[in-house]
Amino acid sequence: MSERSFGDQSNWDSGAERLDYLTDPPSSGEQSDSHRCPVGGCAKQVPDHMLMCGRHWRMVHPNLQRRLYAAWARGAGAGTEAHAEAMRECVDEVDWKVGAEAKP
Ligand SMILES: [Zn+2]
Repeated sequence: MSERSFGDQSNWDSGAERLDYLTDPPSSGEQSDSHRCPVGGCAKQVPDHMLMCGRHWRMVHPNLQRRLYAAWARGAGAGTEAHAEAMRECVDEVDWKVGAEAKP
């Protein structure tokens, strides 16, 4: 019985978690430069420059990923309608895939 599987943790993720333990934990548990993965049922904290956790990001179609990168424009496009729409479509697609896997 392993309480935790490290096999599916990506490197950047475990590194970030380790740093968290070394520094004082924020009382609220929330950091200004990270947010929760927007995919339904996912509780991973994601850095703000990424839309969702790596595992779910890999489920986004490459065409959509490219569209989001183009709309994001390294931060210049943040908050624009094109960016918001691309984000919504990415989350929708992964949400749909996750839901389809859960109940076939
Ligand atoms: Zn996720």
